[in-house]
Amino acid sequence: MRITFLGTAAAEGWPALFCECEACQRAREKGGKNIRSRSSALINDDLLIDFPPDTYMHMINNGIRLSEVKYLFITHSHEDHFYPQDLAMRAVPFAHIQGRKILKIFGNKRVVDTLKDFNIEGERTMIETHMLRPFDEVQFDEYEVLALRADHQQGEECLIYLVKNEGKTILWGTDTGFFPEDTWEALCGKRVDIAILDTTGGPHSTPGYHMGIPEIIKVKERMLKEGIAHEQTLFIATHFSHNGGLLQEELEKALKPYGIIPAYDGFVVNT
Ligand SMILES: [Zn+2]
Ligand SMILES: [Zn+2]
Ligand SMILES: [Zn+2]
Repeated sequence: MRITFLGTAAAEGWPALFCECEACQRAREKGGKNIRSRSSALINDDLLIDFPPDTYMHMINNGIRLSEVKYLFITHSHEDHFYPQDLAMRAVPFAHIQGRKILKIFGNKRVVDTLKDFNIEGERTMIETHMLRPFDEVQFDEYEVLALRADHQQGEECLIYLVKNEGKTILWGTDTGFFPEDTWEALCGKRVDIAILDTTGGPHSTPGYHMGIPEIIKVKERMLKEGIAHEQTLFIATHFSHNGGLLQEELEKALKPYGIIPAYDGFVVNT
């Protein structure tokens, strides 16, 4: 299984749209891995996680054929993860797709309702929507996906995902605070090969909404203790906010003692 990190920033991007803070100035000066767009990842060539407003740029920068993506899993309705206006571009005359290529979109009630409000589903776009609740499981082709409960926006069932393909398992763990107990219970007995964890705060914590380095260390420890992770499991931090302040090299240094790698836009991992 191959995972390509398309975007690794929090909602405002980094450098952030209108920001003049020191972390954004430094990112602008240094460039490279310090330029982060809004959060998304591509698994193999056909399963996309989240659809931020930077998806157009992700398509260009990574040479992705979005028409070939068959499955889109949305974590929640925040605009840095879900930009339904661009999904309307799948209809003629905005797109001329060769043959009948269906895109199945999975998400919580708020996401599915929004897609209906935008009139996205149907023959024009060849988009189908499927509502998921925490702990629902779906299987198709070579994939098995389990939705898990996130601790994020109150009033919405935000989801994180466990994706199994070719005998390997990825945990996609953003946006969320430290995992809720029922999510830990659902993870019991699973074996994760790549754990991707919300590290929005960098060195800082935002309990009940996002994680920072202190929480992802605790997640790693508990996963190892409960046998959900093993010695070869890769732990990857993502979804970084400028308010955390640490640029890529500084994140690498801060996370190295704990065996965690910070992702960057364009980072590819094979398992
Ligand atoms: Zn986010
Ligand atoms: Zn800033
Ligand atoms: Zn969010």
